[in-house]
Amino acid sequence: NHQVHIIGGGLAGSEAAWQLAKRGVKVRLSEMRGGGDMTPAHQSDGLAEMVCSNSFRSDDADNNAVGLLHQEMRRLDSLVMRAAEVAKVPAGSALAVDRDVFSGEVTRLLSEQPNVEIVRERVDTLPADGLTIVATGPLTAQSLAQSVLSATGQDSLAFFDAIAPIVYHDSIDMDVAWYASRWDKGDGKDYINCPMDKDQYLAFHQGLLDSPKAEFKEWETDTPYFEGCMPIEVMAERGLDTLRFGPMKPVGLDNPKTGRWPHAVVQLRQDNKQGTLWNMVGFQTKMKHGAQVELFRSIPGLEKAEFARLGGLHRNTFIRSPILLDRQLRLKSAPHIRFAGQITGCEGYVESTAVGLMAGIMAANELAGRDFAPPPETTAFGALLHHITGDAEAESYQPMNINFGLFPPPEGKVHKKERKAFMTNRARTELQRWMTEFGLSSGN
Ligand code: FAD
Repeated sequence: NHQVHIIGGGLAGSEAAWQLAKRGVKVRLSEMRGGGDMTPAHQSDGLAEMVCSNSFRSDDADNNAVGLLHQEMRRLDSLVMRAAEVAKVPAGSALAVDRDVFSGEVTRLLSEQPNVEIVRERVDTLPADGLTIVATGPLTAQSLAQSVLSATGQDSLAFFDAIAPIVYHDSIDMDVAWYASRWDKGDGKDYINCPMDKDQYLAFHQGLLDSPKAEFKEWETDTPYFEGCMPIEVMAERGLDTLRFGPMKPVGLDNPKTGRWPHAVVQLRQDNKQGTLWNMVGFQTKMKHGAQVELFRSIPGLEKAEFARLGGLHRNTFIRSPILLDRQLRLKSAPHIRFAGQITGCEGYVESTAVGLMAGIMAANELAGRDFAPPPETTAFGALLHHITGDAEAESYQPMNINFGLFPPPEGKVHKKERKAFMTNRARTELQRWMTEFGLSSGN
């Protein structure tokens, strides 16, 4: 006799259940752990288990986008933020927790909620009707993943991410790099090109071979994935010129400084509509983060690059949300189904929880027949949702953490030093305005 069925009792599913239950909605929360199934990364039966680090990252709401998101989640009485408060351990300006106390607290609070029925079961197919929230995470059980695949189509569900680094546009040196498409096709602004001469290329190639790499987990090596997403360092191992015939191909790209093609080129492609984020094309990598920053800053034009995201490659089930979902996280082809958490292509505990929180509020409003619009994109919630449900370039859509590049840049001139203060103040005002408009206060 539930009104909403949530599949997956991780970070996102637990938060969505809480938001619904508080609004008087009856929820069935299906979690396969504790019912005879396990994922390769989880170790317990607890709800909202944090599978790796025990940190929710920065809690600084004035200088960090994830800290701002924490603050917004607290404003909406987030279950995860409540439990984190109880489980907190000292971590400077970060919010870190005792993982077991944290999961225990989430499990306790949900178990005590009369509107939530926690059922330890694996769900193998998407329900044909009834409001549903799918929050089965990066390691969604195979059978359900197949069902999602049938609903979304072959190209719209990934089993691995292939993350190329993303650079903030205003940190690229455009005196060295230049806009151009190969053979001057397109509108001329499609790519930013960073040129390398032969010595620079040889040094870069050697750097790729020498850099420390992260290992694949044992369970990651059995999943076939490599088509189209080979790590750049693996390409480098294949031969000195493999990259020059692949992602670093210089043909058709006249450097305006010399009038000639460089020896090799690193290309960046616009990654969001606002043009604040640019993706290093073909640069997915398993190099360790510190090594990536060091090596990529040796690329001419990127000496001062700031990265919104570094490269990676992991097992990760996620859908192509910008194409598949509407602004309220509903599957366009089957709107009774919402997606939430990391399966939407957001990245990290906090972002997954935030998307779960919104999915819960959205489903509650839909059930009540109330008009509702997602938060404005000037808020951290809104920026994240906007990225997932439409703003990101669908072609290069890959998981990403919240960052200030996802927010609309300030209207008018704001000094670089004051940009964060401007954006965080604007976010607070706008969140309050939105909460008032839709009758939301902490606790309702
Ligand atoms: P999850 O928290 O994974 O929850 C999904 C739940 O659904 C699980 O409990 C699972 O058992 C259940 N489930 C799956 N399929 C079914 C089914 N068919 N029926 C019923 N239940 C099902 N993020 C960070 O911020 N920091 C980190 O350090 C970090 N390290 C990570 C390390 C690894 C190895 C992995 C895989 C991920 C890591 N992440 C990290 C990402 C993090 O796991 C996610 O961001 C977060 O847990 C996602 O929340 P979620 O609710 O979407 O998914």
